[in-house]
Amino acid sequence: KFQSFVPSATPATWLGVMGGGQLGRMFVHAAQMMGFKVAVLEPARDCPAGHAADHLICAKYDDEAALAELALKCAAVTTEFENVPAQSLAFLAERTFVAPGAACVSVAQDRLEEKRFFTGCAPTSGVLPAPYKAILGNDDIDAIPDALFPGILKTVRMGYDGKGQVRVKSKDDVRNAFAGMGGVACVLEKMLPLAYEVSVLTARGADGESVVYPIAENVHRDGILFTTTVPGPNVCAETAAKAQAAALSIIAQLGYVGVLCIEFFVLQDGSLVVNEMAPRPHNSGHYTIDACVTSQFAQQARAMARLPLGDVRQHSPAVMLNILGDVWFEGDSDTPREPAWDKILALPGANLHLYGKDDPRRGRKMGHITFVDPTLELAQQNLRAACGILG
Ligand code: ADP
Ligand code: MG
Repeated sequence: KFQSFVPSATPATWLGVMGGGQLGRMFVHAAQMMGFKVAVLEPARDCPAGHAADHLICAKYDDEAALAELALKCAAVTTEFENVPAQSLAFLAERTFVAPGAACVSVAQDRLEEKRFFTGCAPTSGVLPAPYKAILGNDDIDAIPDALFPGILKTVRMGYDGKGQVRVKSKDDVRNAFAGMGGVACVLEKMLPLAYEVSVLTARGADGESVVYPIAENVHRDGILFTTTVPGPNVCAETAAKAQAAALSIIAQLGYVGVLCIEFFVLQDGSLVVNEMAPRPHNSGHYTIDACVTSQFAQQARAMARLPLGDVRQHSPAVMLNILGDVWFEGDSDTPREPAWDKILALPGANLHLYGKDDPRRGRKMGHITFVDPTLELAQQNLRAACGILG
Protein backbone atom coordinates (compact mmCIF):
# COMPACT_ATOMS: atom_id res chain seq x y z
CA LYS A 1 0.00 0.00 0.00
CA PHE A 2 1.13 3.54 -0.73
CA GLN A 3 0.85 4.53 2.94
CA SER A 4 3.57 2.11 4.03
CA PHE A 5 6.47 3.52 2.05
CA VAL A 6 5.96 7.27 2.08
CA PRO A 7 8.52 9.07 4.21
CA SER A 8 7.48 11.65 6.80
CA ALA A 9 6.85 15.14 5.46
CA THR A 10 9.09 18.01 6.52
CA PRO A 11 7.38 21.33 7.25
CA ALA A 12 8.58 22.58 3.87
CA THR A 13 5.94 20.83 1.83
CA TRP A 14 2.22 21.07 1.18
CA LEU A 15 -0.55 19.61 3.30
CA GLY A 16 -4.08 19.28 1.98
CA VAL A 17 -7.46 19.53 3.65
CA MET A 18 -10.87 18.45 2.44
CA GLY A 19 -13.41 21.09 3.48
CA GLY A 20 -13.32 24.85 3.81
CA GLY A 21 -15.07 25.55 7.12
CA GLN A 22 -13.71 27.02 10.33
CA LEU A 23 -12.01 23.77 11.35
CA GLY A 24 -10.12 23.89 8.06
CA ARG A 25 -9.25 27.54 8.61
CA MET A 26 -7.78 26.87 12.07
CA PHE A 27 -5.89 23.89 10.64
CA VAL A 28 -4.47 26.12 7.89
CA HIS A 29 -3.28 28.67 10.46
CA ALA A 30 -1.62 26.01 12.65
CA ALA A 31 0.08 24.23 9.75
CA GLN A 32 1.31 27.51 8.27
CA MET A 33 2.82 28.48 11.63
CA MET A 34 4.92 25.32 11.39
CA GLY A 35 6.06 26.24 7.88
CA PHE A 36 3.72 24.09 5.80
CA LYS A 37 1.82 25.41 2.84
CA VAL A 38 -1.80 24.32 2.77
CA ALA A 39 -4.20 23.56 -0.06
CA VAL A 40 -7.95 23.39 0.60
CA LEU A 41 -10.51 21.55 -1.54
CA GLU A 42 -13.99 23.00 -1.10
CA PRO A 43 -16.94 23.66 -3.44
CA ALA A 44 -17.61 27.22 -2.19
CA ARG A 45 -15.08 29.86 -3.23
CA ASP A 46 -16.00 32.15 -0.33
CA CYS A 47 -15.16 29.94 2.65
CA PRO A 48 -13.31 30.43 5.98
CA ALA A 49 -10.41 28.07 5.16
CA GLY A 50 -10.11 29.23 1.56
CA HIS A 51 -9.35 32.80 2.65
CA ALA A 52 -6.43 31.58 4.77
CA ALA A 53 -5.11 28.79 2.51
CA ASP A 54 -2.10 29.07 0.22
CA HIS A 55 -4.16 27.45 -2.52
CA LEU A 56 -7.89 26.82 -2.93
CA ILE A 57 -9.16 24.11 -5.24
CA CYS A 58 -12.75 25.07 -5.82
CA ALA A 59 -14.49 21.79 -6.69
CA LYS A 60 -16.97 19.24 -5.45
CA TYR A 61 -15.69 16.73 -2.90
CA ASP A 62 -15.94 13.88 -5.42
CA ASP A 63 -14.37 15.66 -8.42
CA GLU A 64 -11.63 13.21 -9.43
CA ALA A 65 -9.54 15.73 -11.38
CA ALA A 66 -9.56 18.07 -8.37
CA LEU A 67 -8.75 15.23 -5.96
CA ALA A 68 -5.86 14.14 -8.18
CA GLU A 69 -4.56 17.73 -8.23
CA LEU A 70 -4.75 17.89 -4.42
CA ALA A 71 -2.96 14.55 -4.03
CA LEU A 72 -0.24 15.52 -6.49
CA LYS A 73 0.44 18.77 -4.66
CA CYS A 74 0.29 17.50 -1.07
CA ALA A 75 2.52 15.19 0.96
CA ALA A 76 -0.54 14.33 3.05
CA VAL A 77 -4.25 15.11 3.04
CA THR A 78 -6.74 15.29 5.91
CA THR A 79 -10.39 16.21 6.28
CA GLU A 80 -12.12 18.85 8.35
CA PHE A 81 -15.56 17.89 7.08
CA GLU A 82 -16.99 14.79 8.69
CA ASN A 83 -19.27 13.94 5.80
CA VAL A 84 -16.63 14.02 3.07
CA PRO A 85 -17.33 11.04 0.77
CA ALA A 86 -15.25 8.10 2.06
CA GLN A 87 -14.61 7.16 -1.59
CA SER A 88 -12.85 10.48 -2.10
CA LEU A 89 -10.50 9.71 0.79
CA ALA A 90 -9.87 6.25 -0.68
CA PHE A 91 -9.16 7.83 -4.09
CA LEU A 92 -6.69 10.25 -2.47
CA ALA A 93 -5.05 7.40 -0.54
CA GLU A 94 -4.01 5.74 -3.79
CA ARG A 95 -2.00 8.87 -4.56
CA THR A 96 -0.79 10.35 -1.28
CA PHE A 97 -0.85 9.79 2.49
CA VAL A 98 -4.33 10.30 3.94
CA ALA A 99 -5.16 10.65 7.63
CA PRO A 100 -7.65 9.77 8.97
CA GLY A 101 -8.31 6.91 6.56
CA ALA A 102 -11.51 6.34 4.61
CA ALA A 103 -12.54 3.29 6.67
CA CYS A 104 -12.30 5.19 9.99
CA VAL A 105 -14.19 8.20 8.66
CA SER A 106 -16.94 6.02 7.27
CA VAL A 107 -17.53 4.38 10.69
CA ALA A 108 -17.91 7.83 12.25
CA GLN A 109 -20.31 8.92 9.48
CA ASP A 110 -22.81 6.22 10.34
CA ARG A 111 -24.32 6.21 13.86
CA LEU A 112 -25.22 2.51 13.62
CA GLU A 113 -21.77 1.41 12.51
CA GLU A 114 -20.29 3.67 15.15
CA LYS A 115 -22.40 2.11 17.93
CA ARG A 116 -21.60 -1.42 16.72
CA PHE A 117 -17.92 -0.50 16.72
CA PHE A 118 -18.10 0.99 20.24
CA THR A 119 -19.91 -2.14 21.46
CA GLY A 120 -17.15 -4.29 19.97
CA CYS A 121 -14.54 -2.18 21.75
CA ALA A 122 -16.30 -2.41 25.13
CA PRO A 123 -14.40 -5.43 26.53
CA THR A 124 -11.19 -3.36 26.44
CA SER A 125 -12.51 0.23 26.45
CA GLY A 126 -14.80 -0.42 29.43
CA VAL A 127 -17.60 1.78 28.02
CA LEU A 128 -20.81 1.03 26.13
CA PRO A 129 -23.06 3.25 24.01
CA ALA A 130 -26.64 4.06 25.15
CA PRO A 131 -29.11 1.18 24.60
CA TYR A 132 -30.36 1.53 21.01
CA LYS A 133 -32.25 -0.08 18.17
CA ALA A 134 -31.83 0.38 14.42
CA ILE A 135 -35.00 1.79 12.81
CA LEU A 136 -34.86 1.02 9.12
CA GLY A 137 -38.56 0.36 8.51
CA ASN A 138 -41.98 -0.06 10.12
CA ASP A 139 -41.26 -3.62 11.31
CA ASP A 140 -38.45 -2.25 13.44
CA ILE A 141 -40.86 0.24 15.03
CA ASP A 142 -43.32 -2.54 15.95
CA ALA A 143 -40.46 -4.42 17.63
CA ILE A 144 -39.20 -1.55 19.83
CA PRO A 145 -38.93 -2.72 23.45
CA ASP A 146 -40.72 -0.45 25.98
CA ALA A 147 -37.42 -0.04 27.85
CA LEU A 148 -36.15 2.27 25.06
CA PHE A 149 -38.77 4.94 25.92
CA PRO A 150 -38.51 7.83 26.39
CA GLY A 151 -35.94 7.97 23.63
CA ILE A 152 -34.33 10.03 20.89
CA LEU A 153 -34.70 9.12 17.25
CA LYS A 154 -31.59 10.16 15.29
CA THR A 155 -30.87 9.89 11.59
CA VAL A 156 -28.02 7.44 11.03
CA ARG A 157 -26.23 9.82 8.68
CA MET A 158 -25.55 13.56 8.39
CA GLY A 159 -26.80 14.66 11.84
CA TYR A 160 -24.88 17.41 13.68
CA ASP A 161 -25.51 20.10 16.29
CA GLY A 162 -28.69 18.29 17.36
CA LYS A 163 -30.09 18.36 13.79
CA GLY A 164 -31.82 15.19 12.59
CA GLN A 165 -33.02 14.31 16.10
CA VAL A 166 -36.52 13.99 17.55
CA ARG A 167 -37.48 13.13 21.13
CA VAL A 168 -40.05 10.33 21.26
CA LYS A 169 -42.22 8.82 23.99
CA SER A 170 -44.08 6.05 22.14
CA LYS A 171 -44.10 3.90 19.02
CA ASP A 172 -46.62 6.34 17.52
CA ASP A 173 -44.17 9.18 18.10
CA VAL A 174 -41.48 7.11 16.37
CA ARG A 175 -43.80 6.39 13.42
CA ASN A 176 -44.49 10.12 12.99
CA ALA A 177 -40.88 11.18 13.45
CA PHE A 178 -39.57 8.44 11.14
CA ALA A 179 -42.05 9.48 8.41
CA GLY A 180 -41.20 13.14 9.07
CA MET A 181 -37.55 12.40 8.36
CA GLY A 182 -38.54 10.85 5.05
CA GLY A 183 -38.07 7.23 6.15
CA VAL A 184 -34.26 7.46 6.09
CA ALA A 185 -32.28 5.01 8.24
CA CYS A 186 -32.52 6.01 11.90
CA VAL A 187 -31.44 4.80 15.29
CA LEU A 188 -33.59 5.00 18.41
CA GLU A 189 -31.60 5.64 21.55
CA LYS A 190 -32.82 5.45 25.11
CA MET A 191 -32.88 8.89 26.73
CA LEU A 192 -30.37 8.67 29.56
CA PRO A 193 -30.36 10.68 32.81
CA LEU A 194 -27.27 12.82 32.15
CA ALA A 195 -25.37 14.45 34.99
CA TYR A 196 -23.03 16.20 32.55
CA GLU A 197 -21.22 15.70 29.22
CA VAL A 198 -17.51 15.39 28.49
CA SER A 199 -15.31 14.89 25.48
CA VAL A 200 -11.84 13.44 25.12
CA LEU A 201 -9.53 14.57 22.38
CA THR A 202 -6.93 12.04 21.37
CA ALA A 203 -4.41 11.70 18.55
CA ARG A 204 -2.52 8.76 17.12
CA GLY A 205 0.47 8.67 14.82
CA ALA A 206 1.05 6.27 11.93
CA ASP A 207 3.53 4.43 14.17
CA GLY A 208 0.80 3.79 16.76
CA GLU A 209 2.10 6.33 19.28
CA SER A 210 -0.88 8.09 20.86
CA VAL A 211 -1.62 11.00 23.17
CA VAL A 212 -4.70 12.09 25.07
CA TYR A 213 -5.62 15.65 26.06
CA PRO A 214 -7.16 16.66 29.38
CA ILE A 215 -10.87 15.80 29.56
CA ALA A 216 -13.24 18.65 28.65
CA GLU A 217 -16.67 19.32 30.18
CA ASN A 218 -19.25 20.54 27.67
CA VAL A 219 -22.54 22.40 27.99
CA HIS A 220 -24.91 22.39 25.01
CA ARG A 221 -27.76 24.83 24.24
CA ASP A 222 -30.40 23.91 21.67
CA GLY A 223 -28.22 20.97 20.59
CA ILE A 224 -25.19 23.21 19.86
CA LEU A 225 -22.05 23.33 21.98
CA PHE A 226 -22.28 26.41 24.22
CA THR A 227 -19.23 26.20 26.52
CA THR A 228 -16.26 23.92 27.12
CA THR A 229 -14.51 24.07 30.50
CA VAL A 230 -11.16 22.44 31.26
CA PRO A 231 -10.71 21.23 33.93
CA GLY A 232 -14.42 20.44 34.11
CA PRO A 233 -15.96 21.56 37.41
CA ASN A 234 -17.98 18.32 37.72
CA VAL A 235 -15.34 15.88 36.50
CA CYS A 236 -13.70 13.72 39.19
CA ALA A 237 -10.26 12.15 38.72
CA GLU A 238 -11.70 8.65 38.42
CA THR A 239 -14.12 9.62 35.61
CA ALA A 240 -11.37 11.52 33.79
CA ALA A 241 -9.00 8.55 33.94
CA LYS A 242 -11.71 6.14 32.79
CA ALA A 243 -12.75 8.32 29.83
CA GLN A 244 -9.15 8.94 28.77
CA ALA A 245 -8.32 5.23 28.94
CA ALA A 246 -11.48 4.44 26.95
CA ALA A 247 -10.54 7.01 24.29
CA LEU A 248 -7.02 5.57 23.93
CA SER A 249 -8.44 2.07 23.66
CA ILE A 250 -10.97 3.15 21.01
CA ILE A 251 -8.45 5.07 18.86
CA ALA A 252 -6.06 2.10 18.92
CA GLN A 253 -8.78 -0.43 18.06
CA LEU A 254 -9.87 1.78 15.18
CA GLY A 255 -6.29 1.86 13.86
CA TYR A 256 -6.83 5.58 13.45
CA VAL A 257 -4.22 8.16 12.42
CA GLY A 258 -4.81 11.82 13.30
CA VAL A 259 -6.93 13.74 15.79
CA LEU A 260 -10.12 12.06 17.03
CA CYS A 261 -12.63 13.46 19.52
CA ILE A 262 -14.92 11.15 21.51
CA GLU A 263 -18.02 12.44 23.31
CA PHE A 264 -19.18 10.73 26.50
CA PHE A 265 -22.18 11.08 28.81
CA VAL A 266 -21.69 10.92 32.55
CA LEU A 267 -24.91 9.63 34.09
CA GLN A 268 -26.43 10.64 37.39
CA ASP A 269 -25.14 7.39 38.97
CA GLY A 270 -21.61 8.37 37.88
CA SER A 271 -21.33 5.78 35.09
CA LEU A 272 -19.78 6.61 31.74
CA VAL A 273 -21.48 6.05 28.35
CA VAL A 274 -19.81 6.64 24.98
CA ASN A 275 -21.92 8.86 22.69
CA GLU A 276 -20.20 9.55 19.37
CA MET A 277 -16.86 10.36 17.78
CA ALA A 278 -15.69 13.02 15.36
CA PRO A 279 -12.88 11.98 12.97
CA ARG A 280 -11.23 15.41 13.07
CA PRO A 281 -10.44 18.28 15.44
CA HIS A 282 -13.57 19.20 17.40
CA ASN A 283 -15.30 22.33 18.66
CA SER A 284 -14.71 21.18 22.26
CA GLY A 285 -10.97 21.07 21.50
CA HIS A 286 -10.67 24.72 20.47
CA TYR A 287 -9.42 25.55 23.97
CA THR A 288 -6.17 23.70 23.07
CA ILE A 289 -5.18 26.58 20.75
CA ASP A 290 -4.75 28.97 23.66
CA ALA A 291 -4.33 26.66 26.65
CA CYS A 292 -2.16 23.72 25.55
CA VAL A 293 1.42 23.33 24.34
CA THR A 294 0.20 21.74 21.09
CA SER A 295 -3.20 22.73 19.68
CA GLN A 296 -5.47 20.08 18.19
CA PHE A 297 -4.80 21.59 14.75
CA ALA A 298 -1.00 21.55 15.09
CA GLN A 299 -1.40 17.97 16.33
CA GLN A 300 -3.33 17.05 13.18
CA ALA A 301 -0.52 18.52 11.03
CA ARG A 302 2.09 16.54 12.97
CA ALA A 303 0.14 13.27 12.73
CA MET A 304 -0.56 13.53 9.01
CA ALA A 305 3.03 14.58 8.27
CA ARG A 306 4.23 11.57 10.32
CA LEU A 307 6.23 13.84 12.61
CA PRO A 308 6.41 13.27 16.38
CA LEU A 309 3.16 14.07 18.18
CA GLY A 310 3.20 17.22 20.31
CA ASP A 311 2.97 17.74 24.05
CA VAL A 312 -0.68 17.81 25.16
CA ARG A 313 0.05 19.58 28.45
CA GLN A 314 -2.42 22.32 29.41
CA HIS A 315 -0.72 25.40 30.82
CA SER A 316 -3.79 27.36 32.01
CA PRO A 317 -7.35 26.64 33.07
CA ALA A 318 -9.59 27.44 30.12
CA VAL A 319 -13.20 28.22 29.32
CA MET A 320 -14.36 28.37 25.69
CA LEU A 321 -17.54 30.17 24.65
CA ASN A 322 -18.96 29.57 21.19
CA ILE A 323 -20.11 32.69 19.34
CA LEU A 324 -23.20 32.06 17.24
CA GLY A 325 -24.69 34.48 14.72
CA ASP A 326 -27.48 35.17 17.25
CA VAL A 327 -25.32 37.72 19.08
CA TRP A 328 -25.40 39.99 16.01
CA PHE A 329 -29.17 40.43 16.45
CA GLU A 330 -30.84 42.42 19.20
CA GLY A 331 -34.24 41.02 20.25
CA ASP A 332 -36.34 40.14 17.16
CA SER A 333 -34.42 42.49 14.89
CA ASP A 334 -33.41 41.23 11.43
CA THR A 335 -30.68 43.83 11.05
CA PRO A 336 -27.30 42.58 12.23
CA ARG A 337 -25.02 44.87 14.24
CA GLU A 338 -21.45 44.14 15.23
CA PRO A 339 -21.09 42.84 18.82
CA ALA A 340 -18.97 44.94 21.25
CA TRP A 341 -15.66 43.20 20.59
CA ASP A 342 -13.79 46.05 22.29
CA LYS A 343 -15.51 45.18 25.58
CA ILE A 344 -14.84 41.44 25.07
CA LEU A 345 -11.17 42.07 24.33
CA ALA A 346 -10.86 44.19 27.47
CA LEU A 347 -11.64 41.11 29.63
CA PRO A 348 -8.52 39.52 31.15
CA GLY A 349 -7.43 36.29 29.49
CA ALA A 350 -9.74 36.71 26.46
CA ASN A 351 -8.65 35.18 23.15
CA LEU A 352 -11.08 36.10 20.39
CA HIS A 353 -11.28 33.85 17.32
CA LEU A 354 -13.57 34.90 14.47
CA TYR A 355 -13.87 32.68 11.43
CA GLY A 356 -14.13 35.37 8.74
CA LYS A 357 -17.77 34.63 7.86
CA ASP A 358 -19.44 37.85 6.73
CA ASP A 359 -23.11 36.95 6.98
CA PRO A 360 -24.16 36.27 10.55
CA ARG A 361 -27.22 34.03 10.86
CA ARG A 362 -28.93 32.70 13.97
CA GLY A 363 -27.45 29.32 14.95
CA ARG A 364 -24.40 29.75 12.69
CA LYS A 365 -20.98 29.27 14.31
CA MET A 366 -19.17 32.59 13.75
CA GLY A 367 -16.29 32.27 16.19
CA HIS A 368 -15.34 31.47 19.77
CA ILE A 369 -13.64 33.09 22.74
CA THR A 370 -11.28 31.19 25.02
CA PHE A 371 -10.52 32.61 28.45
CA VAL A 372 -7.19 31.47 29.82
CA ASP A 373 -6.73 32.78 33.32
CA PRO A 374 -4.59 31.91 36.35
CA THR A 375 -7.57 30.15 37.98
CA LEU A 376 -10.68 28.44 36.68
CA GLU A 377 -12.80 30.76 38.84
CA LEU A 378 -11.38 33.83 37.08
CA ALA A 379 -11.92 32.26 33.66
CA GLN A 380 -15.54 31.46 34.59
CA GLN A 381 -16.04 35.00 35.91
CA ASN A 382 -14.79 36.43 32.60
CA LEU A 383 -17.03 34.04 30.70
CA ARG A 384 -20.05 35.34 32.61
CA ALA A 385 -18.97 38.91 31.85
CA ALA A 386 -18.67 38.01 28.14
CA CYS A 387 -22.18 36.49 28.15
CA GLY A 388 -23.46 39.73 29.68
CA ILE A 389 -21.76 41.83 26.98
CA LEU A 390 -22.95 39.64 24.10
CA GLY A 391 -26.51 39.49 25.55
P1 ADP B 1 -24.87 15.59 17.38
O1 ADP B 1 -24.25 14.87 16.23
O2 ADP B 1 -25.93 16.54 16.95
O3 ADP B 1 -23.84 16.21 18.30
P2 ADP B 1 -25.46 13.84 19.63
O4 ADP B 1 -25.75 12.40 19.51
O5 ADP B 1 -24.15 14.19 20.27
O6 ADP B 1 -25.63 14.45 18.18
O7 ADP B 1 -26.64 14.53 20.43
C1 ADP B 1 -26.67 15.92 20.72
C2 ADP B 1 -26.97 16.17 22.19
O8 ADP B 1 -28.26 15.61 22.53
C3 ADP B 1 -26.00 15.49 23.14
O9 ADP B 1 -24.84 16.28 23.32
C4 ADP B 1 -26.86 15.37 24.39
O10 ADP B 1 -26.95 16.61 25.07
C5 ADP B 1 -28.23 15.04 23.85
N1 ADP B 1 -28.41 13.57 23.74
C6 ADP B 1 -28.11 12.80 22.68
N2 ADP B 1 -28.37 11.50 22.91
C7 ADP B 1 -28.83 11.42 24.16
C8 ADP B 1 -29.28 10.33 25.00
N3 ADP B 1 -29.30 9.08 24.56
N4 ADP B 1 -29.71 10.62 26.25
C9 ADP B 1 -29.71 11.92 26.70
N5 ADP B 1 -29.31 12.98 25.96
C10 ADP B 1 -28.86 12.75 24.71
MG1 MG C 1 -22.52 15.32 19.62
